[in-house]
Amino acid sequence: MLTVEIVNKWMELFYEKISEKKAYLSELDTPIGDGDHGNNMMRGMQGVKDGLEKLENPDLKETFKAIAMALISKVGGAAGPLYGTAFLEMAKNCEESQAPADLFRYALDGIKKRGGASVGDKTLVDVWTPVVDNLGKDELVVEVVQKAAEGTKNLVAKKGRASYLGERSAGHLDPGAVSSCYLFESFIEAGG
Ligand code: ADP
Ligand code: MG
Ligand code: MG
Repeated sequence: MLTVEIVNKWMELFYEKISEKKAYLSELDTPIGDGDHGNNMMRGMQGVKDGLEKLENPDLKETFKAIAMALISKVGGAAGPLYGTAFLEMAKNCEESQAPADLFRYALDGIKKRGGASVGDKTLVDVWTPVVDNLGKDELVVEVVQKAAEGTKNLVAKKGRASYLGERSAGHLDPGAVSSCYLFESFIEAGG
């Protein structure tokens, strides 16, 4: 069950991971995008850190809402509204259930509705979907998350900037899938 404490730890670990991998994420975004994904996510996570530090005794809903607002206002690009929507959906639904399996399902539905991507389109949906499916059955392990991100390599992009390249987008990892992989690795490490 997600608690304010776990979510704070999760965001701390995700902030560290993005700091470490910022250059790599932008590098992944260079051949099939505009080379800014690492910088976008770093700006967003700095905003999340600042936003969470400002809260006084927040509940889970306020915590998710602060994360969503920071991501929407700071990440920019395609990823900002998508990650922001994910956390906004968790804020909307966390009074009803605090189970990650439920909350991530709402988040994924929000991402799909907002961006119109389906499984196989070479986006972060290709990581979120197996995570949600797995959480419904089992405990989530890093191997599932990493395999999902690696699986985007051979796909042809159907959404976002990478789709402008058509077939030439194949052979490259999707940067948003890799940042989502870090998000869920951090989630597992946080004990979520
Ligand atoms: P931009 O492409 O605007 O520069 P980013 O580089 O920050 O934004 O993010 C790119 C990532 O966003 C992609 O790698 C992909 O995972 C994700 N993405 C782009 N468009 C969509 C979409 N319509 N649905 C889901 N994910 C998307
Ligand atoms: Mg980009
Ligand atoms: Mg951009």
